[in-house]
Amino acid sequence: MENKAGENDLVTSTNTFPQPARQARLNTLLSLSAADALGAATEFKTPDAIRAHYGETFPDYQPGSVFGFAPGEATDDSQMVAATLLGYARGTGLDGVLAGLNDWIATGPPDVGNLTRDALRKGGLDGGARAWASSNFQSAGNGGLMRIAAVWIAGYTEEALAHESALVTALTHADPRCVHASVFFTAFLDALHGGKDYTDAAELALKVMDSLDARAVLLERDIFTVDRREANNTFHAQDRDARTQVRASVRDGLAGKIHSQSGYVLDTLQAAVAHARAETWQTCVEPAVLMGNDSDTVACVVGAVAGARGLAVPPHLLPPLRLGHSWAGWQREWSCVVRFGELVK
Ligand SMILES: [Mg+2]
Repeated sequence: MENKAGENDLVTSTNTFPQPARQARLNTLLSLSAADALGAATEFKTPDAIRAHYGETFPDYQPGSVFGFAPGEATDDSQMVAATLLGYARGTGLDGVLAGLNDWIATGPPDVGNLTRDALRKGGLDGGARAWASSNFQSAGNGGLMRIAAVWIAGYTEEALAHESALVTALTHADPRCVHASVFFTAFLDALHGGKDYTDAAELALKVMDSLDARAVLLERDIFTVDRREANNTFHAQDRDARTQVRASVRDGLAGKIHSQSGYVLDTLQAAVAHARAETWQTCVEPAVLMGNDSDTVACVVGAVAGARGLAVPPHLLPPLRLGHSWAGWQREWSCVVRFGELVK
């Protein structure tokens, strides 16, 4: 762990911890974006249709995105990671992150998840809890998990990382399955970056998830407000079962089991844990791309793990890499390789 002078300017409790090395966090941002951009072409398609059209391998960016993303353009997943980092750069913590996400959605991005749209439209730190309530406490999509690597990339670690991951997820996805999956996931990134073996890192991250009282964290920070008591109570009722389900998904993923690449948070988590065990960046990411369905998101989550593991993105994927949308703080034509350094402090 290093903590170079001048790198640690966050006005948050992370000042008490050494940050993960900046270069590793920057590489992880590039890695998740490149994987997302590879998966953009196959999103919503079936494995058979993908193989018929693109062949058995997927070494480079391809046209065919249903949202009109050009080859090399990353989708909402990476855009929301960047929007989160731009939000942190405001220096106002969680309020800044919410403002960063609102900046992004205000400019009409080509693809936005339903729960994300509903939560941000409702406004406020409790928008995610209100959107979850509107879904009769059913919605548990992957829209929080897909962007949560941003918290680790922002420099949080240890206890502050777990707290912040719960809060940032619940801004749009307040179901306990979503919240616990994210707390697990960023702890997993942190442990992998710290050099832990894959399975050990996952088991350690499950312990982090188990030791955090996420509901108390959300309550304290007004995600669950007094007039939203029902959300707090429902979270409480489902808390234990949600942790059990996250644990089962992670362990199935560690055993190589993949249920589906649907947009359900635990399917995405399980598939990503399974794919990202492979030896190289390409062999981690390619199966996620070829399996279709929510392939860009699964690939993006895999890309975050591959980045934290220190796996190198194939060099030819970096120069063409872009984010497929313009909003306050980002232009669609900007090169990620050139500009991402400004997002990672
Ligand atoms: Mg996407």
